[in-house]
Amino acid sequence: MVMNYMLSEDEKAIIDIAHSVAIQKIKPLRKYYDEKEEFPYEIMKEFAKCDLCGTYIPKQYGGLGSGIMGLVLLIEELCKVDGSIALSIAATALGTLPIILFGNDKQKTKYLPDIASGKKLAAFGLTEAEAGSDVCNIKTVATKTGDFYIIDGIKCFITNGGDAQIYTVFAKTNFTKGARGISCFIIEKGQQGFHFGKKEKKMGIKSSSTRELIFNKCKVHKDQRLGKEGYGLLIAQTTLNNSRPGVAAQALGIATGAFEEAIKYARIRKQFGNSIISFQAIQHMLADMATEIEAARSLLYTCARTIDSKIQKRISKESAMVKLFCSEMAVRVTLNSMQILGGNGYLRDYPIEKMFRDARITTLYEGTSQIQKNEIAANLIREFSTK
Ligand SMILES: Cc1cc2nc3c(=O)[nH]c(=O)nc-3n(C[C@H](O)[C@H](O)[C@H](O)COP(=O)(O)OP(=O)(O)OC[C@H]3O[C@@H](n4cnc5c(N)ncnc54)[C@H](O)[C@@H]3O)c2cc1C
Repeated sequence: MVMNYMLSEDEKAIIDIAHSVAIQKIKPLRKYYDEKEEFPYEIMKEFAKCDLCGTYIPKQYGGLGSGIMGLVLLIEELCKVDGSIALSIAATALGTLPIILFGNDKQKTKYLPDIASGKKLAAFGLTEAEAGSDVCNIKTVATKTGDFYIIDGIKCFITNGGDAQIYTVFAKTNFTKGARGISCFIIEKGQQGFHFGKKEKKMGIKSSSTRELIFNKCKVHKDQRLGKEGYGLLIAQTTLNNSRPGVAAQALGIATGAFEEAIKYARIRKQFGNSIISFQAIQHMLADMATEIEAARSLLYTCARTIDSKIQKRISKESAMVKLFCSEMAVRVTLNSMQILGGNGYLRDYPIEKMFRDARITTLYEGTSQIQKNEIAANLIREFSTK
């Protein structure tokens, strides 16, 4: 039972549909996809059938128009059951947001309807071997020749890499201009000079593919550039400010799923002649977990509503706070859930060990916890310098 967040009927419908897909289609297969490390194409079809692929995409481009809040509710609900399969939608949102936020009408009309219908997936290509937290250090280059750019370089760690059809990719258009020398391009799978590198073997989120993107003299028309030349860093940062609540929702969903497993187990597991839930040590762990989860949910929904309302110009602090708090909370909650299940929590027969493995990534990607703290601190310093 969660607090009343005054969700609209449309928002409740997203949760209800996501819940039934998660229970009926994902739950029976989550162990399979985790162990086989296989991309869940069959489940993607279910998402498309249930109209869940474009919750955040504006209605005029075929989506449900439910904004970041709609995305967050969907991801949270799916991740209660599996934190990896839902990532294909969250990573598609990450790859699509640059188009929603900075695309012109022609670009939006060309790409958004296919993503909203589930026909195509998207991905976001920013990270490189020498440019993780330090995004300005990217070496991928886009050299202008007439109406085209020639792209050369390698992106690493790209979620949905190889499985997505549409990629928003960041490259240097001017090496002398620093942060203003980066631009963003929409590049399609199959385009000449665009290949995929190795698929990473990971600790968790195993059904999600993480691959290198390799650009070797990849010729891209200037119409494929998003926004103005040199606006790439702004596009990346604005996208991440909007997408980090999605990672927070993934973390919150996983934490909630783990908590529910832990409380169910604590009620039935008997030691010393009593259910372990009768021990105060277990009760206090559960109380702490439930409190942290609800605090995370309140922060997340408030942040999502603030973004959607567009009344606040800067949302980088709130977005970083929610990503930091929800992801660190999910690691604590999944670990404590494992503790409550005792030895069984460590076994693959129970879902908790997978939930911990899946939760762990949320403190790392789309900016590590340290980078979120840097962002929050930078905002605080700016705010308090004028007081
Ligand atoms: C499974 C997975 C999926 C991913 N998906 C994508 C994707 O779809 N698209 C994409 O572009 N990228 C993606 N990434 C990349 C991810 O965003 C980066 O891994 C992340 O931003 C951290 O960069 P890094 O790994 O290079 O770590 P580094 O930047 O090398 O950081 C190493 C350590 O140093 C700390 N550190 C670095 N700089 C600072 C600083 N200034 N202050 C304090 N501490 C600091 C970090 O917090 C971290 O603890 C993915 C990564 C993984 C593992």
